[in-house]
Amino acid sequence: MPTGTCPECEAEVHVDTDTDKGETVDCEECGVQLEVVGLDPVELDLVEEGLDDDEDEDEF
Ligand SMILES: [Zn+2]
Repeated sequence: MPTGTCPECEAEVHVDTDTDKGETVDCEECGVQLEVVGLDPVELDLVEEGLDDDEDEDEF
């Protein structure tokens, strides 16, 4: 099973082999939410809370 490194606590975070880029996983050590930004090798990025991720297409 591939693993990435948590940018918050540097623990190894296991990522399912069928996980796609853009999916989020939780660090088991510190509990932060991490986004999978790379798969080979696995790269993880902190998901910042409060990000407005709405895909609002009404304005255009
Ligand atoms: Zn962590």
